[in-house]
Amino acid sequence: MNFDLIVAGSGLFGLTVAERCAAELGLRVLIVERRDHIGGNAYSEPEPETGIEIHRYGAHLFHTSNERVWEYANRFTAFTGYRHRVLTTFKGRVYPLPINLGTICAYFGRAFTPDEARALIAGQAAEVTEVGNLEDKAVSLIGRPLYEAFIRGYTAKQWQTDPRELPAEIITRLPVRYTFDDRYFNDTHEGLPVDGYTAWLERMADHPNIEVRLGTDFLSLRDDVLGRVPVVYTGPLDRYFDHAEGALGWRTLDFETEVRPTGDHQGTAVMNYADEDVPYTRVHEFRHFHPERTHYPSDRTVIMREYSRFAEDGDEPYYPINTPADRERLLRYRALAEAETRRNSVLFGGRLGTYQYLDMHMAIASALSMFDNRLRPHFTRGEPLTAGGTRG
Ligand code: FAD
Ligand code: UDP
Repeated sequence: MNFDLIVAGSGLFGLTVAERCAAELGLRVLIVERRDHIGGNAYSEPEPETGIEIHRYGAHLFHTSNERVWEYANRFTAFTGYRHRVLTTFKGRVYPLPINLGTICAYFGRAFTPDEARALIAGQAAEVTEVGNLEDKAVSLIGRPLYEAFIRGYTAKQWQTDPRELPAEIITRLPVRYTFDDRYFNDTHEGLPVDGYTAWLERMADHPNIEVRLGTDFLSLRDDVLGRVPVVYTGPLDRYFDHAEGALGWRTLDFETEVRPTGDHQGTAVMNYADEDVPYTRVHEFRHFHPERTHYPSDRTVIMREYSRFAEDGDEPYYPINTPADRERLLRYRALAEAETRRNSVLFGGRLGTYQYLDMHMAIASALSMFDNRLRPHFTRGEPLTAGGTRG
């Protein structure tokens, strides 16, 4: 074994750990990746017929307010000035999201000042006195008419669960603005990698001390390496332990990609569909992520319809469901993971390894803190990997 560290998984978490350990500490790092390509879910590729960059695992928009993450990401790629905006279609009409003054004026069919809109929504929201679930929370934020138009059907399609049975927190991610600001993200920095996600991700792995083995499941070589070299595992936590505590619940997405014979299918990057009788939740049109690219064809475009459902065996795990049963299971898996760190020097990180929804900037930040708090002290001062205090 000619390596100082094995990283299982080449998503942004694994790549950040590998790059830091190779470049800062001079360690020899082996990355093993189950898929036939690097980059995890942020991977993108040119659609073969049109050359338009598509995101195979769902559209990825980079945004962060973390200066360290922004500086770090900029070492490997420049970012375009793309600013994400989303529209929604409800009963044949188009409205801006997130819900803002423009949505309110369009939906109620007249001009409102911010104060008038606030008073209108406050009156409609007053029916909720106690917030117990997603529906109560949403109605308390935006009133029943807007909830029924823009949230109820979309949420039911996305979660296949009655919104009255979903936790209130899901909806607190959605801002409500009494201005015409329709930017989707509030972060300081935003943009898309100038020459695509895959070029960025490949540059992170492009170091003489890093070897990448694609098409290799870490679990198939686990018995040969455990205890001989420290491991950072970013695959599914329950799978590492052969589902000893039961399976953790995930939602998955199905994507339907189509080349359309027009230069512009919908005039924007993402159109949500609020009506419950439209089976997909949203349609992405990838050319609009890169309006600066002049080589895209003018007579064809690529769209991707997105459908949501519970993940079953063999599906890609996308969003942790986090039911109370999942959370209890997770505590038991965390105890197993801590014992495995002590016994075999395996650290667990990333979206799948910690059963957490992480945006890209959060995955990078979390990998940098695992490097600072666990890996650097271990490799430079011989401290145990269990020290450090923060969960990668
Ligand atoms: P992943 O990217 O999932 O990488 C894990 C890697 O480990 C995978 O390549 C997997 O094949 C590999 N692996 C698993 N098990 C094994 C094993 N046993 N052996 C070897 N390899 C293994 N973030 C944003 O910031 N903006 C967005 O707009 C955005 N959109 C998203 C849309 C969707 C549909 C999804 C699902 C996520 C989105 N994200 C977005 C989140 C982003 O994808 C994650 O932050 C990022 O993927 C986390 O990186 P990771 O390394 O933790 O996990
Ligand atoms: N949501 C909705 N209508 C929309 C967009 C979002 O009801 O048009 C709700 C839905 O419940 C969703 C939540 O807001 O789960 C968070 O939305 P977000 O766009 O952040 O979801 P993601 O892009 O992460 O799937």
